[in-house]
Amino acid sequence: MHIVAIGGSDAGISAALRARELDPSVDVTVVVADSYPNYSICGIPYYFSGDVQPWQSLAHRTHADLEATGMTLRLDTLATRIDAGARRLNVQDASGESSLSYDELIVGTGALPAFAGIRGLDSLGPDDGVHVIHSIGDTFALERHLDERDPKTALIIGAGYVGLEMAEGFTGRGIHVTQLQRGTEVLSTLDPELAGAVHTELVRHGVEVHTGTTVHAVEKTDAGVTVHAERGGAPITFTVDLVLAVVGVRPNTTLLEQAGATLGAGGAVMVDEHMRTGIPNVFAAGDGVITHHRLLGTTYLPLGTTAHKQGRVAGENAIGGSARFAGSVGTQVVKVFDVVAARTGLREHEAAAAGYLPSTTQSVADDHKRYYPGAQPISIRITGDTESGLLLGAQLVGRLGTETAKRVDTYATALFAGLTVAQVSDLDLSYTPPLGSPWDAVQAATQAWSRAHTAAAVPA
Ligand SMILES: Cc1cc2nc3c(=O)[nH]c(=O)nc-3n(C[C@H](O)[C@H](O)[C@H](O)COP(=O)(O)OP(=O)(O)OC[C@H]3O[C@@H](n4cnc5c(N)ncnc54)[C@H](O)[C@@H]3O)c2cc1C
Repeated sequence: MHIVAIGGSDAGISAALRARELDPSVDVTVVVADSYPNYSICGIPYYFSGDVQPWQSLAHRTHADLEATGMTLRLDTLATRIDAGARRLNVQDASGESSLSYDELIVGTGALPAFAGIRGLDSLGPDDGVHVIHSIGDTFALERHLDERDPKTALIIGAGYVGLEMAEGFTGRGIHVTQLQRGTEVLSTLDPELAGAVHTELVRHGVEVHTGTTVHAVEKTDAGVTVHAERGGAPITFTVDLVLAVVGVRPNTTLLEQAGATLGAGGAVMVDEHMRTGIPNVFAAGDGVITHHRLLGTTYLPLGTTAHKQGRVAGENAIGGSARFAGSVGTQVVKVFDVVAARTGLREHEAAAAGYLPSTTQSVADDHKRYYPGAQPISIRITGDTESGLLLGAQLVGRLGTETAKRVDTYATALFAGLTVAQVSDLDLSYTPPLGSPWDAVQAATQAWSRAHTAAAVPA
């Protein structure tokens, strides 16, 4: 049996590893467009901040580690066409066009940076001082710019997870950062009541933040790069040495679309929970496909955690298994300087749109007993269903060291299990004064929600 996986990142490599792990007799070939299989693109911001050096240490596994599993890597090889009828994949490498036959194909071509209709982003590039950050190639281009041109100012379009991490990375290298955000607050995946703490942290570290600012165009000028935007109906321009655009991603679906796949949420390829595309013998996983969400049904939520899980499912099923992707609950976390912001599940407007009767309560609790030195507050917003009492979502912001990321994981586990808000208060969580409280911050927040919604607090 010959399995071909396209893509050398989280989804493609996870699929290949799982297939080889379950059946070492299966031939697995991984076709990768560049020379950098299994690199952690999630770690790129920490390469720029200097926390992770050299760039090679961003590899989850080395080339040799991967080959030791028995898979064959076809690097610098672009998959150009799927012939599903003949079960052949056309590929192009330095020696020209050829084709590979497969029994089962797994497509993990991921996503590409989005440009959000901003003029100039599709035509300008690293030589013009305009960058995106999605691959190791992008990383090298940006690093070259920093080394050779020593920029003093950078403008980041977008204040989502990656934009915020890169603001920290640039600031750490002594570059003055201007950060533009279209929405009313940075980190629009969190309620502004909590995201405001991230904004404050950026400003505290010298980042110039402009919210409510919509970028229309980016242009190369004699003085550097000029960004044309609008704020409150008035035009505003910024001229800087370097622009980094991080305004989201778009699923990279060309190959599968040409092969007849159906597109769904976010323009991503429809797959079932077994990661089948509907095209015979073709599976897909990762940022190119829709996400099964335990509270929403299907959505598009491209994340590394999900790509790993989906790839593993696809790899197992490609060799005849019946694994199922159990679904995301949308758990995410980001570190911005000394602040950690996290969420899982739904925010109130998302839950209402999904047909729930949600209500949200915000509270603050210390990360451990106040009498033990170093206690710090964590702000937590709990969203629950006022009819059933079900937990629907949680958002948290705390200082680095408050275990905010692991606390969001408790809520994520509760969401996965379908617990009510009141049941979270009943969980047997750990306690010792330097690390927690008899009622952990997680439960102080669910109790606050229950107090505000007494009728819903009693499970049926
Ligand atoms: C800077 C940054 C930070 C991030 N941080 C986090 C984080 O902290 N947590 C988190 O959960 N997620 C994070 N993400 C998102 C996460 O990295 C992605 O969800 C994940 O990488 C998706 O994996 P993938 O395999 O689906 O696709 P991708 O990583 O997009 O990889 C696609 C692969 O397919 C290859 N490819 C594409 N087309 C072809 C073709 N035609 N032929 C051959 N090969 C092809 C590419 O070369 C690449 O190897 C971050 C992303 C970025 C950019």
